Amino acid sequence: MKYVDEFNDPGLARTLLDEIRATVTRPWALMEVCGGQTHSIIRHGIDQLLPDRLELIHGPGCPVCVTPLETIDKALAIASRPGVVFCSFGDMLRVPGTGRDLFRVKGEGGDVRVVYSPLDALELARRHPERQVVFFAIGFETTAPANAMAVHRARRLGLRNFSMLVSHVRVPPAIEAVMSAPSCRVQGFLAAGHVCSVMGTGEYPALAARHRVPVVVTGFEPLDILEGIRRAVHQLERGEHRVENAYGRAVRDEGNPTALRMIEEVFEVTDRAWRGIGPIPGSGWRLREEYRAYDAEHRFDVTGIRTEEPAVCRSGDVLQGLIKPPECPAFGTACTPRTPLGATMVSNEGACAAYHLYRRTTAPHQKEANPVG
Ligand code: SF4
Repeated sequence: MKYVDEFNDPGLARTLLDEIRATVTRPWALMEVCGGQTHSIIRHGIDQLLPDRLELIHGPGCPVCVTPLETIDKALAIASRPGVVFCSFGDMLRVPGTGRDLFRVKGEGGDVRVVYSPLDALELARRHPERQVVFFAIGFETTAPANAMAVHRARRLGLRNFSMLVSHVRVPPAIEAVMSAPSCRVQGFLAAGHVCSVMGTGEYPALAARHRVPVVVTGFEPLDILEGIRRAVHQLERGEHRVENAYGRAVRDEGNPTALRMIEEVFEVTDRAWRGIGPIPGSGWRLREEYRAYDAEHRFDVTGIRTEEPAVCRSGDVLQGLIKPPECPAFGTACTPRTPLGATMVSNEGACAAYHLYRRTTAPHQKEANPVG
């Protein structure tokens, strides 16, 4: 535990906070992109320790939260078919679709299984050639290499009973969408360190220059986050907008070449709808034509399922940083982790779940931010 303890050191945290307080002279708003960073911020009360004039906006970087309702409904339809073994990471089982979730399908007799890797699903397919095994492939750039590898291996093994329901999303187009929204208040980004450990930092300089915002690649422990904030506010106060890597122990500028090659081999960029946000051009990956035989949407013919998002859930506003979770009228009343109305209350990385878990029942005061530049 020594390694993690070092990134929780209260003395070092105080030093970083003192420097942030001494640096900030005007109101600023930063967005942490990743839901893992949001949980760390709320869990450790980092937002409450910052100067009043510095606001953290919680971004859309939670893969479970942004998986469209329509895709959940397709998963439910496939998982309900006889002869199907439907495999998923555990947190997707409680995400509500229209009227039910994967747990309900399991309770009704569907063969829904929690796995820890797409390779577990692949192994099930190998051992049970009489069953159709489907893996629910959601996530950002972090899960894409392993999912790509599973499909690549399935083709090499000649497995005909393995497929994937793919709902992969990419961070840079989401940042572009956030910055292009007329209501955007974000002036700088803490980019997700684990995403950059796969992809590198090459996609960010153009974004930083186009929108004149600092982008600081940031980790997940309290000191990582404070260091990311410290670097971002330094840039903002100086009128700079560069890409900086504050997570050097995991991120190289070129990313992970082996993982990138595997993604490139199996996936191609496509438009993707984000739950609560809507379609974002070029924000997803789908299987390339050569691997389309492994696409569960086509194999089970669920491409025609169309679903409208319920109006009561304001997770779209939460995911875009327009409101904080307690500002949603359903927060903590109609919507709790036991009775979630939206994915941001279900997922371990969801902002609504983080506020509920750590008893944040009021929204922090929203600050008036400076125009960048
Ligand atoms: S509290 Fe529930 S209903 Fe409100 S935005 Fe969050 S998930 Fe949606």
